[in-house]
Amino acid sequence: MSVFAFLMDLARKEFKIDSLSGRGRMDFDRPAGLYIHIPFCSERCDFCPYNKVRYDPEVAAIYPQALERELELQGVKSFNSLYIGGGTPTLDMDLLENVINRFSNSVDGELALEVHPADATAEKLERIKRTGIDFVSLGIQSFDDHTLRKMGRKRQNATLSREAIERVVLAGFGFVDVDLIFDFELGSESTARDLEIAMDYGPHQISVYPMMRFTGTALAGTKNDPERELQVLEILEERARNRGYSRDTLWTFKKHGESKRYSSVSREFFLGLGTSASSFNGRQFTTNTFSLDEYYHYIDRGRIPVRRVIEMNILQASLYYSFWALYGGELDLERLRSLFGEPDRRLSELLELARKTGYLRQESEKLVPTKKGYRELHKIEEWLTYNFIDVIWTELREEAAKRPHTGSAW
Ligand code: SF4
Repeated sequence: MSVFAFLMDLARKEFKIDSLSGRGRMDFDRPAGLYIHIPFCSERCDFCPYNKVRYDPEVAAIYPQALERELELQGVKSFNSLYIGGGTPTLDMDLLENVINRFSNSVDGELALEVHPADATAEKLERIKRTGIDFVSLGIQSFDDHTLRKMGRKRQNATLSREAIERVVLAGFGFVDVDLIFDFELGSESTARDLEIAMDYGPHQISVYPMMRFTGTALAGTKNDPERELQVLEILEERARNRGYSRDTLWTFKKHGESKRYSSVSREFFLGLGTSASSFNGRQFTTNTFSLDEYYHYIDRGRIPVRRVIEMNILQASLYYSFWALYGGELDLERLRSLFGEPDRRLSELLELARKTGYLRQESEKLVPTKKGYRELHKIEEWLTYNFIDVIWTELREEAAKRPHTGSAW
């Protein structure tokens, strides 16, 4: 059996998604990161699957307080990082400052923020820096007008992309990540050009994600082509290497010698606050309601706004953990044992099979994906996206659509 088939079989049999609401708090007995979702946007990009609502200052004004109340309900006091994403967290700077002021004192680690290129003005960047944010991820997606139009990015064009990256890199943040999206349908040259332009400005990290075709977006109904995507990624990896960047995680390239990482997706354990935010404590993976109305309703009544839960046994949790560790470039077997005990026989067999068949190589106590391993991880990540994330998000989006709408419609 191939590694891919083995894993799919295990995941299908083992993971069950439960629909629960108003559950109790999650216990975190290990250091965790904090993620805060700010769902407000002034536009709706056609490709976007993320939870968002049209920005309305009145509706948004009570959001920071609701987030704080949610944290009180969860009862977690300290975190090893803060990542803020959305939505467009940089749209309303007063709201953003309010959020950061409420939470930054409980964080010992990086303060990280997604920045929309249209918000990367000198004035906003200065305000962002004053909040103590030192890691930023600039959501450029592309430097090409045709590609941006295809994505339905209404606040952005190619000129603005270049101005934004220049300003962010020169603003003096401790770490700058630039996000690009590539669509195999556009061929490798347009993505390679985007990567070259990003590298011209010298950010610390460049993330290159394949365009995913989520339900409910303009691209729904079309399909990814992993083989063609992998061809594009190989070209990108070579171009990156020629310019002093190397592959750091499945879909990121980092400047040689850079030790830090913008890592919103591959943290070990995390508590998510806000609509649609997910949490993982090593035993449960939960996702909050997508409805802002329901979110406020739960918080008002002192209930935790969770809508979906995956309860994990040790095998499931260690499998989940191992996948994300490999996505992040290495699985430390000692760390795995210290967190989850001796690996379950099926996980050990899977890792051994992956090592013997050349997907992973062992470096003392660490397992590291080989080139062939990264190819497999790419396919697995897409499979997981469509079989778990898209399923949960679609259900939650449909449930949210049935609730009264808080704020103005699109
Ligand atoms: S891509 Fe970003 S700005 Fe566009 S709709 Fe999605 S969350 Fe909003």
